[in-house]
Amino acid sequence: MTTVNLLDFDLEGLAAFCEKLGEKKFRATQLFRWIHQRGASDFTQMTDLAKSLREKLATTARVEALPVVTQHESKDGTIKWLFDVGDGNAVEAVFIPEDDRGTLCVSSQAGCAVGCRFCSTGHQGFSRNLNTGEIVAQLWFAEHLLRKHLKRNERVISNVVMMGMGEPLQNYSALVPALRTMLDDNAYGLSRRRVTVSTSGVVPMIDRLGTDCAVAMAVSLHAPNDALRDDLVPLNRKYPIAELLEACKRYLAYAPRDFITFEYCMLDGVNDQPEHARQLIELVRKHDVSCKFNLIPFNPFPASGLLRSPQPRVLAFAKTLSEAGLVTTVRKTRGDDIDAACGQLAGDVKDRTRAAERMAQRRATESPIVMHPARKTIPQEH
Ligand code: SF4
Repeated sequence: MTTVNLLDFDLEGLAAFCEKLGEKKFRATQLFRWIHQRGASDFTQMTDLAKSLREKLATTARVEALPVVTQHESKDGTIKWLFDVGDGNAVEAVFIPEDDRGTLCVSSQAGCAVGCRFCSTGHQGFSRNLNTGEIVAQLWFAEHLLRKHLKRNERVISNVVMMGMGEPLQNYSALVPALRTMLDDNAYGLSRRRVTVSTSGVVPMIDRLGTDCAVAMAVSLHAPNDALRDDLVPLNRKYPIAELLEACKRYLAYAPRDFITFEYCMLDGVNDQPEHARQLIELVRKHDVSCKFNLIPFNPFPASGLLRSPQPRVLAFAKTLSEAGLVTTVRKTRGDDIDAACGQLAGDVKDRTRAAERMAQRRATESPIVMHPARKTIPQEH
């Protein structure tokens, strides 16, 4: 008999499911706590639920994690899991421990349709959206495994970033119940300020998220003008920078933090020049968006044809932004020894849509972006 995976439900959904079983709504809260707060998957363990409910659950429902394909632990404590989501597809989640927090980077899609040039996931193409249960399962599995591993009863994961594989706002209907489960005090009770959705700029969905489930927002900006961003983040052709920044401004009316984080991957000779920093400053001043910049050292992979900016150039870029009054951080690289940057391992598992080939063709047939001379260090065939 087909059973329902209860990780698919936020509390409201679980209450509706319990009602269908002829149970009172409050039973859903008890069940929700067992699953998410205590990590239980065996209904017989849930001793404060009526025996009749446990029997009904045994025949209609299950709590099922994703099968783990691999687990890699870095010497800096970062752990990366590759999960099997069927049909030869796999997604990743990465746990990044720090002194004052534990962050889990979660995937929302198997592959991604946006096709950013610097992103390994984008080069794999899009396979399918994850459902809510598959998004939540990454947190459920990691949280309870880490508690056991670290022998802790209290919460290990304090922050979630939707920055793994996929564009979360292109999987909106599965994303929102997953976010609600992360925030729910009967489940993980994470602060809205500590759950971040990272988007490449799906403007209409940024507006919807503000009213449906406002959490912290990070935007993958990566370029200070449309010509360059059209090439690096193809979604920009649909939602250009000006529209994106106006959506960010509107989102701030709902956001739990009073700034948007702009992610900016530093690519050698492509977007890391002084004029790019100056254009960024003009851009955020013109649109008057309260923001912070996070400069990300690029993790090179052969198919990208791109290289990491040298550290002195990254620091100079950060200094220019900071001196203009923009709060700017440079992301520490973590888990380099286990390829913990998103998409790096799953890329070896599948490239079913031959997206990398299509991207290479696209670059060959479209007008090239104007490169700074430093770009000549990049192999020309890319
Ligand atoms: S950076 Fe994000 S939106 Fe762009 S291709 Fe990669 S996963 Fe997709």
